[in-house]
Amino acid sequence: MKAAILEAPATELIVTSIDCQEPQAGEVLVKLAASGVCHSDLHVIHGTQATPLPVVLGHEGAGIVEAVGPNVTQPKVGDHVVLSWVPYCGQCSYCLSGRPNLCSVVYAALANGTLLDGTSRLSRGGAPVYHYSFISSFAEYAVVPASGCIVIQPDIPLDIASLVGCAVMTGVGAALNTAHVRPGSSVAVIGAGGVGLNIMQGAQLAGAASIIAIDINPAKLEQSVIFGATQCINSAQTDAVTAVRELTGGLGVDYSFEAVGRPQTMRQCWEMARPGGTVVMVGIAPDGSELVLPATRIVREERHLLGSFYGSARPHIDMPMILELYMAGKLKLDELATHRFSLAHINEAVHLLEVGEAIRPIILYD
Ligand SMILES: [Zn+2]
Ligand SMILES: [Zn+2]
Repeated sequence: MKAAILEAPATELIVTSIDCQEPQAGEVLVKLAASGVCHSDLHVIHGTQATPLPVVLGHEGAGIVEAVGPNVTQPKVGDHVVLSWVPYCGQCSYCLSGRPNLCSVVYAALANGTLLDGTSRLSRGGAPVYHYSFISSFAEYAVVPASGCIVIQPDIPLDIASLVGCAVMTGVGAALNTAHVRPGSSVAVIGAGGVGLNIMQGAQLAGAASIIAIDINPAKLEQSVIFGATQCINSAQTDAVTAVRELTGGLGVDYSFEAVGRPQTMRQCWEMARPGGTVVMVGIAPDGSELVLPATRIVREERHLLGSFYGSARPHIDMPMILELYMAGKLKLDELATHRFSLAHINEAVHLLEVGEAIRPIILYD
């Protein structure tokens, strides 16, 4: 099959033929229809996130089940599926308590570049090629854990559905599942990329009265309005914390979100929430970085500091619900899909995301 391989950090992806083994016990072979390109893929390409190389990146995929391995009862051959990059074991304490996004078995294996049994199904000339986040959707086919396949209605366009696998789930989930945004509340979102825009539309869906978008890119701020932003702050031109307080009677917002993954903007996010408000960290900061907070004010001002990993997703419940909202016209997903490419042109897609011109470039397969 054709796949795009990253052989070394800071190099272009190489589109080439590789081998893909059949699915083993508990695994599924999916013929991909589409894959979004996400900033996490860029982090690996740039070398700021480590993963075993050579690797097939891509973790925002959707397609049709082509074959299933032994012991797989769900999904079935022919099912249309969105791929979740946080599959789950179904047996650990997190899974049993309804928090499968924190599955301890999966979390331990996430960065290994393999499937759950510690081996890879991908190879080239007999040498192993590694998976990325259990998916590797920059390829015509993917072997994935069955618990990472979310069956969806066959009338939903698969290119749009693919985006639910990362950006949409992460953003909408942060607003609805992690923060439980209340009707009439005020919200600020730092970072108006694929995830940030979905936090905004999640907050809008929850009934937020005001949504303040913060970014340094004027084009992204313009796009924010489509996804529910009521006010925009260009943080390259003004101090964002001061500006948010000015817009909220001096107090700050009820809910602040950080979707960039930098300690500086995380601290700003904490300062933007009003005393008693909720601060939600969504962007993943570089390994080893630390966040410094004023110790006295943490107690006196009673802000709630929450981490949100993969939108606190329960993928089999949340992803079909998100797509139902899309089909009902209540979530904007078509507007996220700004560019489409064939696999042969994947480096152009990567470049568009890098320079901030695309919200989501999508790779389409035949
Ligand atoms: Zn992603
Ligand atoms: Zn588990």
